[in-house]
Amino acid sequence: MDIEALRQDTPGTANRIHLNNAGAGLLSRQTLKAVTSHLELEAAIGGYEAAGQERDRIDATHGHIARLVGSRADEIALFDNSTHAWNAAFYSMTFKPGDRILTGRAEYGSSVLAYLQTAQRSGAEVVVVPNDESGQLDTTALANLIDDRTKLVGIAHVPTSGGLVNPAAEIGRVTRAAGVPFLLDATQSVGQFPVDVAELGCDMLTATGRKFLRGPRGTGFLWVRPEAHAYLEPHVIEVAAATWDGKRSFTWNDGARRFETWEVGYSNVLGLSAAVQQALDLGMDEIGRRTLDLGARLRDQLDAVPGITTHDLGRQRCAIVTCEVGTMATADVAAALAGRGINVSTTDPAQTQFDTEDRDVHPLVRLSPHYYNTEAEIDRAVEVLAELAAAR
Ligand SMILES: *Cc1c(COP(=O)(O)O)cnc(C)c1O
Repeated sequence: MDIEALRQDTPGTANRIHLNNAGAGLLSRQTLKAVTSHLELEAAIGGYEAAGQERDRIDATHGHIARLVGSRADEIALFDNSTHAWNAAFYSMTFKPGDRILTGRAEYGSSVLAYLQTAQRSGAEVVVVPNDESGQLDTTALANLIDDRTKLVGIAHVPTSGGLVNPAAEIGRVTRAAGVPFLLDATQSVGQFPVDVAELGCDMLTATGRKFLRGPRGTGFLWVRPEAHAYLEPHVIEVAAATWDGKRSFTWNDGARRFETWEVGYSNVLGLSAAVQQALDLGMDEIGRRTLDLGARLRDQLDAVPGITTHDLGRQRCAIVTCEVGTMATADVAAALAGRGINVSTTDPAQTQFDTEDRDVHPLVRLSPHYYNTEAEIDRAVEVLAELAAAR
């Protein structure tokens, strides 16, 4: 990868050291252009007419995403974020009293809320699978917990609050052997390193556009294994999802499109499409190698600074790095970094309560480099953090 050329094509790199790709990655010029030129076309000739003119490129988006995750185009549905994609899959399942939903300690807050609401409505039970001693999901415990009451295993691949990579492929082997549906929240992993649905053995997968995929905000997608339609009935229906026979019945449209809405922000879709094409062109193996290397460099350097402690769990770690800087308040650390042109974010204990219980160190500073960051930027961020730690 020609990092200098990639940075030339990423306007934001001239203004900031952007270490908040787990929040939102920086758009490339190509993605920005895909979004703005479609908006301009809508303004110039009309929204429906613009969509008509760009129909082939719009429809190609599903195919690009399919290539990214190793699926077929008709197994992909587009959404306006990952949460809505996840909701579309989850709320399309039915649960009855005594059914069990198994989840992990790294689960995203919105998903946990959905489990709790569903448990309240249906009488199903939510069971949280423990972590092993490394802090990743304990797959032996998972296998032991699965029984004929288990209707779903819902797991976050990479949590929002740390550098853990959950053993998704191992979880997939367990769920496939047991014949239990596996819903994988891959919001932080897609775009960061290779994610292949066949390899992972999941049945439904969700991701967002704006994080490591570097797409525009307001984009996301769902992948559904065709066999999963046997137990999924979309929780809403509309003209994009089904065909009315003109009398008193309807048929669902083929494949994952039955989860989509008719109205879509096409400038965003074309932006997402451009971002995915760029990831495919660069190659997810290459992207993953460099991104994980930069994450490891950052974590190793921070671990060597007196007064700084990193708190990432698990055997396999990624480019999300969480740390404490002495006793300095996390928000103050983030503000001090922002004052020096370094973008980071902080974890939210209320949204990651299982993890908060386990580590009890939130909020943490969250740094998340991407392939277009330089080694010098990583070193600079460490230098500033070391100064903050020394000033304590
Ligand atoms: C950001 C995030 C989500 C939600 O994605 P949106 O696109 O904001 O809806 C879900 N899960 C994880 C692990 C996340 O980090």
